[in-house]
Amino acid sequence: MEDTYLHKGLRRKLVEELKNKGISDLRVLAAINKVPRHLFMESSFVNHAYKDKAFPIGSKQTISQPYTVAYQSELLQIESGDKVLEIGTGSGYQAAVLVEMGAKVFTIERHKTLSMSAQMLLPKIGYRPQFFYGDGFEGLPTYAPFDKIIVTAGAAEMPEKLISQLKTRGRMVIPLGPVDDQTMFLILKNEDGSIEKIEHGSFLFVPMLKGKV
Ligand code: SAH
Repeated sequence: MEDTYLHKGLRRKLVEELKNKGISDLRVLAAINKVPRHLFMESSFVNHAYKDKAFPIGSKQTISQPYTVAYQSELLQIESGDKVLEIGTGSGYQAAVLVEMGAKVFTIERHKTLSMSAQMLLPKIGYRPQFFYGDGFEGLPTYAPFDKIIVTAGAAEMPEKLISQLKTRGRMVIPLGPVDDQTMFLILKNEDGSIEKIEHGSFLFVPMLKGKV
C-alpha cells in the first residue's frame, strides 16, 4: 500500500502526457495526479501503472486507459457534490477519480470477484463510493435520479433505463457500438425531457453484458 516519491513522479509525468493529448480540465488532471493507480493493479505490474495503457485486472476485464478515464471524466463536467452513477466498477480506479473530484459515487459491477476486491481496496486508501453488485443495464432506480452517469463498458445498444434515471440537464457518457469499435457519446437531457446525442470519437472498451456473474 505504499505510495512513494517514485510513484508520485511517474503520476506527474502521466498528467503531462494527458495534457499533451488534449485533456484540459484541471480538476480531472488534479485527481489523476492524486489517485495512486498502481494500487489498483497486482503489485507485480507496478511498472505498467503509469503508462497510458489499459491493463488486465482479472475476470477478463481491464482497468481503463488513463486517457479514457480522463476523457470521460472531462465530458461529465463534474461539480463537487454531483451524484454520479458508474456502470462497470472494475478495479475501482475510475470511481476513485470521481470521488477525488468531490462526486458522490454509486458504482455497479456484474462480476462478483471484481466488485468484492474494489470494495476491499477503496476504503483502505480513503475512497468511499457506494458499491453495488448487479447488472448495470438496470441502473439503480432506488437512488435515481443522477446528475451524471458514466458507462465504462462498451454497449451494443442504448440502455434506456439509464437515460430515465438521468436528471433533467444531466449528462451521461457512454461508449456505444459493436465489440471491436465503439463511439463515445455524450447524452444531454434537456429541460423538456428530450435527448441530445453528441459524438466524441472512437474508443475500445470491454463489452457491457447483461446479467451478473
Ligand atoms: N471503470 C473500470 C473499468 C473496468 S472495465 C476501472 O476503472 O477499472 C468495464 C467493467 O464493466 C468490467 O469490470 C465489466 O465486468 C463491467 N461490466 C460489463 N457489463 C456490465 C454490466 N451490465 N453491469 C455492470 N458492470 C458491467
